[in-house]
Amino acid sequence: MSDFLDEIRSRLDGIRAEGLWKTEAVIASPQRARVTVDGREVLNLCSNNYLGLADHPTLKAAAAQAMEDRGYGLASVRFICGTQDLHKALEARVAQYLGLDDAILFAAAFDANGALFEPLLTDADAVVSDSLNHASIIDGIRLSKARRFRFANNDMDDLERQLRAAREGGARHILVAVDGVFSMDGFFADLAAMRDLADRYGALLMVDDCHATGFVGEAGRGTPSRAGVQADIITGTFGKALGGALGGFVAGPQPVIDLLRQRARPYLFSNALPPAITGAALAALDLVEGEEGEGRREQLATNARRWRQGLKALGFDLLPGEHPIVPVMLHDARLAQEMARRLLDHGVLATGFFYPVVPQGRARIRTQMSADLTIRDLDQALHAFAKAGRETGVII
Ligand SMILES: *Cc1c(COP(=O)(O)O)cnc(C)c1O
Repeated sequence: MSDFLDEIRSRLDGIRAEGLWKTEAVIASPQRARVTVDGREVLNLCSNNYLGLADHPTLKAAAAQAMEDRGYGLASVRFICGTQDLHKALEARVAQYLGLDDAILFAAAFDANGALFEPLLTDADAVVSDSLNHASIIDGIRLSKARRFRFANNDMDDLERQLRAAREGGARHILVAVDGVFSMDGFFADLAAMRDLADRYGALLMVDDCHATGFVGEAGRGTPSRAGVQADIITGTFGKALGGALGGFVAGPQPVIDLLRQRARPYLFSNALPPAITGAALAALDLVEGEEGEGRREQLATNARRWRQGLKALGFDLLPGEHPIVPVMLHDARLAQEMARRLLDHGVLATGFFYPVVPQGRARIRTQMSADLTIRDLDQALHAFAKAGRETGVII
């Protein structure tokens, strides 16, 4: 035991020595544009609260009402005695929103991706996966017996090579799996080209739209809508734009959802989502599809444009794009942490990202816009970035 703990401690020391140690900012307020950290109010530029629904009165009221009507917890997995009318309503609502046959809920999108591949694909099949896909897709694929092919991020020539290799290898079914948005960079997957290639090679297309559902595409239907294509299977989360609490889903053709309901292990062996979440998620979808959703999406897009322009004008090195994820490149992990520390001193919460969540030498501060941020907030945040950037020598 003591040998074991010594070995763990030396690995922890190694993480610290490399400047890769992650800490948690402790927030003592609801999640919103301004949060309380260390007894101070700071601007929050690093949540996935894209539409500002995490503390929205309509969602809170829906959660409270659902808890009042249907209780706190289910104390069961779905198939034993944990399915409420709210689950069925939410599954139907998600499927309708995304224009697919049906949907199945999970405790998180991590579980949805972990659940998806193993029941659907056998060793006669193949998965072709983007190299920058989310960890949960990678883990989900690992759990399946399907043959694995990986293509360079968003590289359509390589995708075609891998599809050809899968076909020539005799794969029965081929599933192309991709993030709709690559969350470290804020880049969109080239879904139009992927759909075209998938069709030419007789493959299915699965899109994880966690960083898009609710705010990208027509009525926030996501990256397939933005690209003008249909994905065969979509996975998503309620933990980001759709309220930010918890819960995920797979939406797709009826037989796919039916089989997942029979065989998906995170579904069969993990608890049902509680009423507060299912009730509020239903309200979130209503809000997002309605007029308020449209207004919030417009505000989010305006904020993202304004924020990019402001940072660029200050001389920061940004990754290009349109998504409300705006990465400020610093390259060095220690510098990213130093910058984050100084930003907090100047009243802005923005976390440094470094290995292993991004490649070595590609450290950054990933800023994220929210519809809740005002022009005044953005001006204040730019001022803080200017100060911290000059103090660290990142800008002049
Ligand atoms: C956040 C995220 C997940 C995990 O979502 P949870 O619901 O928090 O488990 C999965 N895939 C992608 C692309 C994500 O960004």
